[in-house]
Amino acid sequence: MILADAHVHLHAYADPSGIVTRARARGVHLLVAVSIDLASSRRSIDLAAQFAGVVAAVGFHPSWLTAPLTPADLTALEQLARHPSVGFIGEIGLDGVEAKLSVEDQRQAFRAQLDLADRLGLPVNLHIRDAFPTAIAEFAARGLPSAGAVVHYFVGDSALAGQLLDLGLYLSVGKPVIRPENAALRAAIRGIPLDRLLLETDAYPLPGRTTEPADIGDIAREVARLRGCSLEEVARATTDNLRRLLGARGPLGAVE
Ligand SMILES: [Zn+2]
Repeated sequence: MILADAHVHLHAYADPSGIVTRARARGVHLLVAVSIDLASSRRSIDLAAQFAGVVAAVGFHPSWLTAPLTPADLTALEQLARHPSVGFIGEIGLDGVEAKLSVEDQRQAFRAQLDLADRLGLPVNLHIRDAFPTAIAEFAARGLPSAGAVVHYFVGDSALAGQLLDLGLYLSVGKPVIRPENAALRAAIRGIPLDRLLLETDAYPLPGRTTEPADIGDIAREVARLRGCSLEEVARATTDNLRRLLGARGPLGAVE
């Protein structure tokens, strides 16, 4: 059984080798190392070269942007995105809570990075927080990137899940599915087709946040329990989904 973490901030750890080793020991052999800016994107690419089964996502996270994206920023990102270890543009999106930029400036950065993903044939990893109506309007108008798109850390209800699935998006879920108080999310999990679901930890070295990719099995087990299917079925489907998105760019040989 092979598990996959579709969203982890390996770039933020001084030495992620222990994290990767512990993940492998628990069957998590495919990791998407997402980024937030150019420096973290470079680091994610280095880590993907260093560790088998790690694939890089490169991009400008909306909450970390302090000024509108410039043509130079985009040229630098494009150069990085052409690296063979890159499997996604991400994380990119819109943030209605923490962003320093206006919605308009965020949207400009978002559109430019979606265009880049389309040009390079890469899927995108989306950070959308308190901004779903704007994001949904955006995708309804322009369509999704042709290589696909994942909404990371989905914590919404069945109605929102339905809207996002109708657009063709994949939904990636993390540890909130384990907590009984998240009843609406847990109900939504039962209705998301298994071929559109991914698992993630969004691990980041913050005080008090102790999750890491090794925990993916705990999330998979709870998803299986909620859906009344086997852990193996959830593992197979979610890993296959990530591989399908990565296409030829995935480190397929490394995970067998
Ligand atoms: Zn993240």
